[in-house]
Amino acid sequence: MTEVQATVEKARSAARWWGGLGHRERRTRLLAWKRHLARHIGELAALVAEETGKTQDDAALEVMLAVEHLDWAARNAGKVLGRRRVPSGMLAANHVATLEYLPLGVVGVIGPWNYPVYTPLGSVSYALAAGNAVVFKPSEHTPRTGAWLADAWAAAVPGEPVLQVVLGDGSAGAQLTWSGVDKIAFTGSAATARKVMATCAETLTPLVVEGGGKDAMIVAADADLDAAARAAAFGGFGNAGQTCAGVERVYVERSVYPQFLAKLGALAVGEQTMTTAEQPAIVRAHVEDALSRGGRAVVGEPSSITARTVAPVVLAEVPEDSIAVTEETFGPTLVVNPVDSLAEAITLANASKYGLAASIFSKNAHAAAATARKLRTGAASVNAVLGFAGVPSLPFGGVGDSGFGRIHGADGLREFSRAQAVTRQRFAAPMDLMRLDRDPKVMRRALTLFHLRHGR
Ligand code: NAD
Repeated sequence: MTEVQATVEKARSAARWWGGLGHRERRTRLLAWKRHLARHIGELAALVAEETGKTQDDAALEVMLAVEHLDWAARNAGKVLGRRRVPSGMLAANHVATLEYLPLGVVGVIGPWNYPVYTPLGSVSYALAAGNAVVFKPSEHTPRTGAWLADAWAAAVPGEPVLQVVLGDGSAGAQLTWSGVDKIAFTGSAATARKVMATCAETLTPLVVEGGGKDAMIVAADADLDAAARAAAFGGFGNAGQTCAGVERVYVERSVYPQFLAKLGALAVGEQTMTTAEQPAIVRAHVEDALSRGGRAVVGEPSSITARTVAPVVLAEVPEDSIAVTEETFGPTLVVNPVDSLAEAITLANASKYGLAASIFSKNAHAAAATARKLRTGAASVNAVLGFAGVPSLPFGGVGDSGFGRIHGADGLREFSRAQAVTRQRFAAPMDLMRLDRDPKVMRRALTLFHLRHGR
């Protein structure tokens, strides 16, 4: 038996205990874990900063967001998933109908390195709150952060191994996918998601995929350009651009394009360290492709990207078929292109295989809301970037190569549970159609009622 299989076996018995506790008991323990994370935020943030290269403050912000979600999941699981009565309808009026969302059992969580606390906990916290045990495989680039989270669980909730970690690279992730867990929550690139899904297909293991993105920001002519430029800089260059729902493309109405570029250019400063050794080469290839196809660099150049550090690059008038527009760059670069109308911005924003999130800047709330509804994404943020990330009651997830299924919010809790429908017959139906010796007169009467109800 491999280490992964042995861990999943232990999780199976822990899942029986944890699932049997009930929502109130689980909430008490989840909140104990939450308090542990909150009290040790400095220690955890220092570890995240060390493993990822992000600043201690950015790491602390990540932990704060993760803790908000954990708190919400713990406090709302009972309300969202607990047993409740639902209307039984005309045909089954003699039955009481109840709905309950029950735990799946053991959930395998496979995480990325860019937000090694916030991102996996988006699955871990909601899966635990829904009553499952979790086996978590953190990224090979952030193993100590993953192990710290499980140790924190063991310290706050001693006893059964409800949250365990398995360490290793993709092969450990593949083993977890094969292990017979009851669901896999995968966060990472679309390329790896395809491999995970192929394996899940072999064992019919359900899967939620939180993939990458190529998120667009749309800047209307009436937007507060200072606020839009600040948000584009934060969403595009923050965390060295290694944010799944960060900004990668900006579409600006032509009348304010030069002003926006000037404001953004002034904010495009500061060298950062990228987390992995492979990423800078990808970023440089995107910049070089954009320039070779006729785009221009307003700030930075390919040499702004060294072996490990990167300075922001702002690219203007980049052809839409450049890889800097079509592929996830995952670096501190922004493609800023002019558009003639909001309609054109929407068309270009949607012309992507990804569909994670988007942002819109406009002083016209009605136009912004109408634009958001036309975007093929799982989330949108108006007059801010990533506004949805800190709202625990909102679901998060994408479409297309950005994935499927949802974490966070009530949908995120349901993602890690199975709906169970139960009916209890209270009395025999006056017109009982569900019997072999059904009376033809009763059937005729039922058909008359049926026509009256649905055929008019
Ligand atoms: P990745 O796809 O390289 O790896 C993700 C995880 O999968 C790692 O733990 C890795 O070890 C594991 N893995 C690799 N091969 C596997 C296999 N065959 N079977 C099972 N597991 C395997 O992604 P990454 O580079 O770690 O993370 C960056 C990507 O994640 C970006 O595309 C980013 O946009 C995306 N991301 C998405 C979200 C979101 O919530 N949508 C959040 C953060 C990051």
